[in-house]
Amino acid sequence: MIEDLKPTWLIEKIYEIQPEDFIRHGFKAVLVDLDNTLIAWNNPDGTPELRAWLTLMKQENLPVVVVSNNNFKRVKKAVAPFDINFISRAMKPFHFGIIRAIKQLKLSQAEVVFIGDQLMTDIHAANRAGIKSILVKPLVKSDAWVTKLNRARERRAWSKLARQYDMSYQDRLE
Ligand SMILES: [Mg+2]
Repeated sequence: MIEDLKPTWLIEKIYEIQPEDFIRHGFKAVLVDLDNTLIAWNNPDGTPELRAWLTLMKQENLPVVVVSNNNFKRVKKAVAPFDINFISRAMKPFHFGIIRAIKQLKLSQAEVVFIGDQLMTDIHAANRAGIKSILVKPLVKSDAWVTKLNRARERRAWSKLARQYDMSYQDRLE
């Protein structure tokens, strides 16, 4: 079903979302995909904008938790510069990793939101977990982990969604 892949919101970049927007929606923590959402393969330390955003989130007491399909070792190393918690081997598009993160945070489904760059894994997993989601544009077009096949499937899913829903990106979380 194509609606299983429908994001709640579309925002171009993660750091365009302000902490007060999350708070206004009742979110108490933010779950994020790692590769191409938080960091790009060619910039593992993240951008200054991302670092500023993480600082803002910390100031507002909004935990950011990475939920990645990658293995423990790689995710641990990738998030080390940012001092944030993570779930590895999340098995997206299934909901297991997201549910684990929600349990660790001791929050409910309505209190968390998932941010990711892929419809078929990130958004599908968020919908299966029964939580709201934000689709962002991938940080770089080509990356080491996303195959050409994956990208073709993403494009097909996007076209199907665009036939039924408004798939335009918003400047902020409405
Ligand atoms: Mg990704």
